[in-house]
Amino acid sequence: MRWTSFQVRTARRAQLLDVTAMVAEVVERSGVADGVCHVFVPHTTAGVTINEGADPDVARDIEAQLGRVVPKDADYRHGEGNSDSHIKTVLAGPSAIAPVRGGKLSLGTWQAIFLCEWDGPRTRTVEVGVWD
Ligand code: ZN
Repeated sequence: MRWTSFQVRTARRAQLLDVTAMVAEVVERSGVADGVCHVFVPHTTAGVTINEGADPDVARDIEAQLGRVVPKDADYRHGEGNSDSHIKTVLAGPSAIAPVRGGKLSLGTWQAIFLCEWDGPRTRTVEVGVWD
């Protein structure tokens, strides 16, 4: 197995950023024919999820609705003022796994891999491990 990382820049406080193309490139360069791709982000206010990438309105709806589920201002104790970002990160988690088949990332027809930014805009690191 080998790990590769790349960085992305998010543009909004809450943003699902499609990183599928960058992850697919890492998979293709890895030389692994059939195996597993693990995407991990080393952050506490950003996560990773796999969801619909065909219609960008789905990502926008997730961003908006999670903002209603976890409001920015509530009776939080954390003094940094971004408890909502930490809580939304719990919902996505720090990693996602996808199959590698025929040397390529093998997602469902409508699936994309998103970095879930909950405290942007920021520069974020995405780590990709590929193994057979
Ligand atoms: Zn914090």
